[in-house]
Amino acid sequence: MNPGRPIALEDAITPASSTNAGGRFRSRLDLLIRIGCVLVSSVAIAVLCGWIFGIPRLTQLLPDLAFMKVNTASALLTASITLWLLHTRELDSPWMPFARCLAVLLLALGSLTLSEHIFGLELGIDQHISTNLHPSLQSAHLGRVSPASSFILTFVGLALLTLKARRSILAACTHWLIVPPLLVSALAVLGYAYGATSLYAVKPYTSMAAHTAASFFVLCLCILAADSAHGFASIATSDTAGGLVSRRLLPTIPIIIFLLGWVGGKGQELGLYDARFGSALMVLLSIAFCVTAVAWTGISLHRVDLTRKVAEAEIVRLNVGLEVRVQERTNELAQVSAQLVIVNGSLELLSRQDGLTGLANRRHFDTYLADQLCVAHRQRRAISLVLFDVDAFKAYNDLYGHQAGDDCLKAVAVALRSCCRQTADMAARYGGEEFAMILPETDRKAAVKIAERARAAVARLSITHQQSPAAPFVTVSAGISAYSPDGAITADQLIRDADQALYQAKRLGRNQIVAATIGVPDLGIV
Ligand code: GH3
Ligand code: MG
Ligand code: MG
Repeated sequence: MNPGRPIALEDAITPASSTNAGGRFRSRLDLLIRIGCVLVSSVAIAVLCGWIFGIPRLTQLLPDLAFMKVNTASALLTASITLWLLHTRELDSPWMPFARCLAVLLLALGSLTLSEHIFGLELGIDQHISTNLHPSLQSAHLGRVSPASSFILTFVGLALLTLKARRSILAACTHWLIVPPLLVSALAVLGYAYGATSLYAVKPYTSMAAHTAASFFVLCLCILAADSAHGFASIATSDTAGGLVSRRLLPTIPIIIFLLGWVGGKGQELGLYDARFGSALMVLLSIAFCVTAVAWTGISLHRVDLTRKVAEAEIVRLNVGLEVRVQERTNELAQVSAQLVIVNGSLELLSRQDGLTGLANRRHFDTYLADQLCVAHRQRRAISLVLFDVDAFKAYNDLYGHQAGDDCLKAVAVALRSCCRQTADMAARYGGEEFAMILPETDRKAAVKIAERARAAVARLSITHQQSPAAPFVTVSAGISAYSPDGAITADQLIRDADQALYQAKRLGRNQIVAATIGVPDLGIV
């Protein structure tokens, strides 16, 4: 068995040798049913021709045996046509209602004739058809269908009515309904085979003909096998142990025992042994056959069982391997997903951070300012914005180089951040050598204090700047805009006001802060 391939349940419980054996048996049964229908209808047509054209040989198998009556032949023809239609057509075929009507006709013929026998009635069913017969045979045909035949016809009609019925419970009845006529016809067949006329003959003119018995027997077997969705046929056509046993034993045991009985009887007839020895021989051969059949089936079932056990063990082994692999994969996935969380966190941080200074970048600044303004509006709280600009930074770059300029920006960023109070304050790089501080819950006065502290912190860095017009070291100018709880302002307006205030600080000589009022900066020097 290939360990890489998952095992299907059918593979596990069905030995390879018997895979689809049920399907093959079904096809064989289908063919046999069709052959049975053709055989029975051929016999019935031959008998009818015999009656119509006056050929007695066709109505009787042998001169001293009973003949098949016209209505029995008609019933057999009807039954075989009905079974053919029910077997070969789909359930929704327009032929189905016609087939059911034929079954009702059979049931009516069988039950009425049976009631004639039981209650001594004379309904004249047989006389109605006598006019169409050949004159030489008109007297011979008189006489009803035998009680056994009418009994069989009644049950065959019922079974054909329920065969493959839409309601499952009705369809399942077919197999029970066909057993009594099967036994009665089998008894008559045995009677003819073994020469025991008392088995089939009730009255001389109502005895069941040999070909009638055989035709009924074949017909009943065909009906029994016709519906593979229910009863015996469903088991026999399945790929289970029950199906295997049914397919092997059920067709063989009856045939072999029938042949043993026939051979035993013939031996007695020929005087080879007496009745007692014949019985003993019959019993011995039957026992030998049954034991052989049981042993043969037992060996097959044993093999099936062993194969299934091997398959089950293989499934258990594969399942264990599968569980281990699933666990490994789950662990790997957990690790990857933990790494992903970390990477995502870093990515998110990077997407919000300025690469040079490590402060919040412009995008983060924009969203944070918009959020905090909403909060300030909603909670009617103050918020302030401070814009810083490094003074004469172009000159610094020109004098000390861009590398030194970058270092200077980093140092300024650290100084500005150190002046932020709580976590809600944000220091950001606004662009170039410009920085910003968002100060939630901070009014103009407090913002001025913080901005002044930040300006002083940068000055305290004492980064030499020979070319600055403001001081011999690096300084910043700042513009402040504040939003008070009783006003209404947008982020753009807040930035514009801070920018104008910053511009004013530059104009006034740099290294200082200017605070604007809401909407209209007062541009007062602090
Ligand atoms: P003012 O006092 O009016 O602000 O004068 P300023 O020279 O600072 O202003 P200006 O806008 O003319 O010059 C800003 C300079 O800042 C120009 C640019 O080279 C420099 N700069 C912007 N971003 C960076 C940066 O990331 N690194 C460095 N080294 N320099 C930068
Ligand atoms: Mg600038
Ligand atoms: Mg500048």
